[in-house]
Amino acid sequence: MSVAKNLLAGRIVEDNLFPYPRLREKDREVLGMMLEAIDEFLAPRREDFKRWDRDAAQPAEFIQGLRDLGLFGLIIPEAEGGLGLSNAGYARVLSQTSSHDSSVSLTIGAHSSIGMKGILLFGTPEQRARYLPKLATGEMIAAFCLTESGAGSDAASIRARAEKGADGNWTLNGEKIWITNGGIADLYTVFARTPSEAGKITAFIVEAAWPGVGHGQHEDKMGIRASSTTTVSFTDVKVPPENLLDAEGKGFKVAMAILNNGRTGLGGGAVGGMKTLIALATQQALARKQFGEPIANFGLIREKLAQMTLECFAAESVVWMVAHYIDSGLEDYSVEAAISKVYASEAIQRAAYEALQIAGGNGFMREFPYEEATRDCRILSIFEGTNEVLRLYIALSGLKEIGRSYSELRAAVDDIFNSPIKGFGVLADYAEKRLSRATGVGRDKLLGKIPPQLREATTAYEKYTVELAKASDYLLRKYGKSIAGRQHALKRVADMTIDLFVGLCVLSRATALSAEPGEESAQAMVIAHAFARQAKRRLAHNVRRIERNEDEEMDLLAGFIVDRGRYPWDIVK
Ligand SMILES: Cc1cc2nc3c(=O)[nH]c(=O)nc-3n(C[C@H](O)[C@H](O)[C@H](O)COP(=O)(O)OP(=O)(O)OC[C@H]3O[C@@H](n4cnc5c(N)ncnc54)[C@H](O)[C@@H]3O)c2cc1C
Repeated sequence: MSVAKNLLAGRIVEDNLFPYPRLREKDREVLGMMLEAIDEFLAPRREDFKRWDRDAAQPAEFIQGLRDLGLFGLIIPEAEGGLGLSNAGYARVLSQTSSHDSSVSLTIGAHSSIGMKGILLFGTPEQRARYLPKLATGEMIAAFCLTESGAGSDAASIRARAEKGADGNWTLNGEKIWITNGGIADLYTVFARTPSEAGKITAFIVEAAWPGVGHGQHEDKMGIRASSTTTVSFTDVKVPPENLLDAEGKGFKVAMAILNNGRTGLGGGAVGGMKTLIALATQQALARKQFGEPIANFGLIREKLAQMTLECFAAESVVWMVAHYIDSGLEDYSVEAAISKVYASEAIQRAAYEALQIAGGNGFMREFPYEEATRDCRILSIFEGTNEVLRLYIALSGLKEIGRSYSELRAAVDDIFNSPIKGFGVLADYAEKRLSRATGVGRDKLLGKIPPQLREATTAYEKYTVELAKASDYLLRKYGKSIAGRQHALKRVADMTIDLFVGLCVLSRATALSAEPGEESAQAMVIAHAFARQAKRRLAHNVRRIERNEDEEMDLLAGFIVDRGRYPWDIVK
């Protein structure tokens, strides 16, 4: 049961939210040793990271150090030579590496989250035996090759091709761009169009050492500059049939499964980065005195520190909830994974902005870490699915599910999509009943799981889950299938779903913490309250704007400016 999709239908799937998951005992054991070793290895290299950011390079000896720490085998099962961490444990490791340097996390993360994940998820026993032990030690480093110059968000439009020869081998041709680890990888998961079933995509495991495989120069990037990003080209590369991943024509499904499964790595990294920013900003706010006192005493600075902390807690709560979904074998978690990626990637960008602002002019100087942190986290809302495309995915996946449930009503409501007026009464009536029955409003089951001090927050989520369902009903009735093209409306639905799901994760975590004594537990209640109040304001705003908005005017303005190609006004004229 997808919690997020059910929110659009007015249901809070409590069993998949409460109690807040705990890390497995085995993960705790491995992490206990690993996190300390990571700190020991990375903490003394602060100056090196700065230099490698400037030089855009990660020396081979340093990558060897990452191998020695076991950082390439984190999620590979022990039987196949790895550490066998769960998704939750893995995300925690990336959080630790990101607290030191983002490029390090990229090197490890692109290998595990996406580069070799295809073999873990879809590999045959023979493919696993051949590659996983080498991938676990880092003897082979992996990369994920999907993007092309003409195919970014529209990944299904790739043009790389693989043709099957009479001898059963495939011949692969094409060029991929912006491939993380492109210049250091020994193994690529490559997506190419295969002609047999018209237009279908197939995934292949390709070794860098094979004739015809090459890569371009290290890209000169804005951030994560030390992480290797290059083009990767394939010219008449012979790929044996045993290196086809999953089944012919199933490559798009393979790519999406890899990306969905890997999103908590990115989220975990964002949380680690935020924790460092909070520590830096706090030290800065205490050390810097203006008007005779530390700037940490001023309300506007305190507000920033509190907001960064609240959002870090929220990001952490949602990322590890999603990691738990993946680890517990839940099949339908792609919307929640997208939510965690969107929320965490935007929260860290807000945190970087505010930390730099707290540092004032120092924040702008390269001598201090804020400008690099700001550059480094900018990529997070662009790669592994842009946040725009993921918002559309979040909204449309939920709406599609409701659209399906409308089919139950087909006997009563003929052709609802073409005749909304006719179906209105029946549907509205049905929706109301369904909503009050499904959301738990009026029941005490959900409230029963929540400590009394969190009741206000709970009520807000219940109320706006009903509002989201009503809004979804309204939009489906108004636009029918053409809702897919109504991006302004879809963004509102996505933002409401994000606020509700993240808020419920916070509520669940705060509920678990409420049983523990101490100040941290008390402050978690404060966070849960404050998050709910802020979310409620955003939710109310989005609900109002479902029907009353300036979408048409904004679209007209966009049309005007797109036609002109420039801003036409000037005070001189
Ligand atoms: C540093 C870096 C590392 C990367 N690593 C890898 C890697 O390892 N492997 C790999 O395969 N790829 C990688 N990528 C590629 C990355 O995944 C793509 O950049 C990303 O998918 C977006 O594609 P694009 O850049 O072509 O943007 P476009 O798809 O051209 O999008 C441009 C803008 O239009 C918006 N947009 C696009 N479609 C829609 C729509 N339907 N509705 C509304 N808005 C839309 C986007 O959100 C974005 O704002 C990397 C990129 C970078 C910069």
